[in-house]
Amino acid sequence: MNNNYISFDREHLWHPYTSTTNPLPVYIVKRAEGVEIELNNGKILIDGMSSWWAAVHGYNNTYINNAAIAQLNKMSHIMFGGFTHEPAIELGKLLLSIVSPKLQKIFYADSGSVAVEVAMKMAVQYWYGKKQPKKTNFVTIRSGYHGDTWNAMSVCDPVTGMHSIFETDLSKRYFINHPKSKFYDEFDKNDLKELIDIIKIHKDNIAALILEPVVQGAGGMYFYNPEYLNYAYNLCKENNILVIFDEIATGFGRTGKLFAYEHTKVIPDIMCIGKALTAGYMTMSAVLTSDDIADTISNNEPYAFMHGPTFMGNPLACAIAKASLDLLLKNDWQGKVKKIEEQLKKELIAAENFNIVKEVRVLGAIGVIETKTAVDLAKIQQRFVEEGIWVRPFGKLIYIMPPFIISSSQLSFLTSKLIKVVSEFDKDYCS
Ligand SMILES: *Cc1c(COP(=O)(O)O)cnc(C)c1O
Repeated sequence: MNNNYISFDREHLWHPYTSTTNPLPVYIVKRAEGVEIELNNGKILIDGMSSWWAAVHGYNNTYINNAAIAQLNKMSHIMFGGFTHEPAIELGKLLLSIVSPKLQKIFYADSGSVAVEVAMKMAVQYWYGKKQPKKTNFVTIRSGYHGDTWNAMSVCDPVTGMHSIFETDLSKRYFINHPKSKFYDEFDKNDLKELIDIIKIHKDNIAALILEPVVQGAGGMYFYNPEYLNYAYNLCKENNILVIFDEIATGFGRTGKLFAYEHTKVIPDIMCIGKALTAGYMTMSAVLTSDDIADTISNNEPYAFMHGPTFMGNPLACAIAKASLDLLLKNDWQGKVKKIEEQLKKELIAAENFNIVKEVRVLGAIGVIETKTAVDLAKIQQRFVEEGIWVRPFGKLIYIMPPFIISSSQLSFLTSKLIKVVSEFDKDYCS
């Protein structure tokens, strides 16, 4: 059966960012529970990825399962046009209770990329309502990642954003370098120079600044100084530019704060959340914004926001998100993330001595080993699996962001195996 499955998969199923003719190897997962992923051959892997930021409570959580089953037995879906329901309302109440009171309006969408599309459309429609229809463009910082749909692609890093072949047909955005001041460094005001210049020249056609606050994820796993955001926000305010924070990766505690904007003194005008919103159970995202923006859109022609996905406010996803948030808030996420951070700092530091390693960095429950040259993904992935851990690097970035429920011994297992495998690649690098 195993061979049949693998050959069908190879023949017919596309995987993320891969070739169909020469695909990277895949492993068949049978089940997953807590932080353990069990392969079809019985091998157990300790999860270092939270399935791309999402599975903060690990897998197969009884509390979330029960919430899902209870909702399933009522209705898994009902259109949001003309209907509303308890899961959407309960989730909305809970979300508003954990964000700044500036954010009052919630738009449910179905994936992170779509949330980014929605946020960008909101910004443009806001300025349309303000009788400034020329403000349709965006400024962003390099090394960003905002998703794979067309407009989201247009604000991803043009080089590392994985989309360079589409570049000629994408809307041209204003790109500036990301702040050089790292998270733990002192802030250097020179980081603002490019933004100041771009705003000076182009403010009349910029609707918003869009960026990932503090942590840039898939575009480079880079942690920058939150002070940048304070200045950037004020610059935008002085020049009639909205600020969109894409918290799809950073939201729900990953960076040590519930939302990364809490590292700053500012609140975005529009905020995108996704990924950990449903703890990896289902695809769902949301865009939160202020009354001012929602009212401006709603009180001016065409008197409605022009977006409405089929699966908007999906009750099953809302019930799951609500259960996940209940758990997160109840279970001292902050203490858990803090512990993971301390342990990662202690246990990953050994990698700094390797020749192949450029930098080791840790923030919240994110640990990154950046190498000097890209590692062979298929080869290193196989070694990780042999050692019993699930880590999926890209390019020069070997990183872990385990579920918050990982125990300290499981985390030590993860980091020690990680270091062991990286040290093997270090030997190859030297020779
Ligand atoms: C993953 C991600 C997205 C895209 O989310 P999808 O659900 O994959 O569409 C957007 N922005 C950030 C910061 C992300 O990490």
